[in-house]
Amino acid sequence: MYDIVIVGAGPAGASAAIFAAKSGKKTLLIDSDQSVTKRAWIENHYGVNEIAGPDLVETGKNQAKKFGATLVDGKVVNVEKSDNGFRVATDQESYEGQHVILATGFLLDVAEKIGLKTIPGTEPRVKTIIDTDGSGKTSVNGIWAAGTVAGVSVHTIITAGDGAKVAVNVISELNGERYVDHDVLKA
Ligand SMILES: Cc1cc2nc3c(=O)[nH]c(=O)nc-3n(C[C@H](O)[C@H](O)[C@H](O)COP(=O)(O)OP(=O)(O)OC[C@H]3O[C@@H](n4cnc5c(N)ncnc54)[C@H](O)[C@@H]3O)c2cc1C
Repeated sequence: MYDIVIVGAGPAGASAAIFAAKSGKKTLLIDSDQSVTKRAWIENHYGVNEIAGPDLVETGKNQAKKFGATLVDGKVVNVEKSDNGFRVATDQESYEGQHVILATGFLLDVAEKIGLKTIPGTEPRVKTIIDTDGSGKTSVNGIWAAGTVAGVSVHTIITAGDGAKVAVNVISELNGERYVDHDVLKA
């Protein structure tokens, strides 16, 4: 049983997994290797001079794994309510999680399959998005959405930021108090 299952390991999903795993939550990150970010050359990501999209995506996955997240290659085909949370089924096997974060980029098939409320997108080339409140909550309690699929501006710094924001909200809900993750520079 995972505390948090994250679908999609692009900037939004991997960033959420970094915060979730680093907070000590049992975190599963499932990805089908279809990130649009892998076609990007990025020079506008604060703090990073320049980076190829594939390197950014790989670095993000490795950071999440460094803090103990489990990374699984696979395509999520369904998410169903279960006694303790949700059963997340991929094309190979299924997993149990208390909370689920959808960070599936431009892909809405899982959201539509599970009947989440969707609305028209407002960003260029983004047709439909998952309807969320400001915290990332969707129309199904316990399922959250982050990044492009949640309608934020389609830029790595913003989708990664949104993934972190939503993860902090999920961690805070699990902890029953607001969560902060600050490391201090060693003297
Ligand atoms: C050509 C190009 C150039 C770009 N250049 C820049 C730039 O210079 N600067 C900038 O800031 N941004 C740029 N971007 C945009 C940037 O890539 C996106 O903004 C953004 O970061 C998307 O992040 P995301 O995590 O929301 O989605 P993605 O990066 O698309 O990640 C979504 C992930 O979800 C996974 N997924 C989806 N459905 C499932 C499923 N059912 N099961 C399992 N996994 C699933 C996919 O495999 C994918 O890995 C560019 C994009 C493109 C296409």
